[in-house]
Amino acid sequence: MSESAGRAPGRRPVEVRRLSDERQVRIAWDDGHVSEYPFAYLRGWCPCAGCQGHGNEPRYVHAQNTDLVTIGVVGNYALSFTWGDGHDTGIYSYRWLRQLCACPNCRPQP
Ligand SMILES: [Zn+2]
Ligand SMILES: [Zn+2]
Repeated sequence: MSESAGRAPGRRPVEVRRLSDERQVRIAWDDGHVSEYPFAYLRGWCPCAGCQGHGNEPRYVHAQNTDLVTIGVVGNYALSFTWGDGHDTGIYSYRWLRQLCACPNCRPQP
């Protein structure tokens, strides 16, 4: 067992699907929650240093090409996405992806 010490385990995806027609990624989580992320939304929240710079606040990036080419798995903690413009340096941790969930339950409207 090599879970990093002191970290809450967090949620994990049990299924990750690219929905080409809807231009969305759908993630089913191990707690039964389902998240759907439009490609442009995911691309916009790319966590890589090139997109995020050195600011403290997460920054939304407006990319020209938001086609999603491939989805990769990074270790046992993250996904990586390759975008239509070749950008592929973002490592989207499961924790980050779960935070990005935009469904009404996760982002209640005031
Ligand atoms: Zn990036
Ligand atoms: Zn949600």
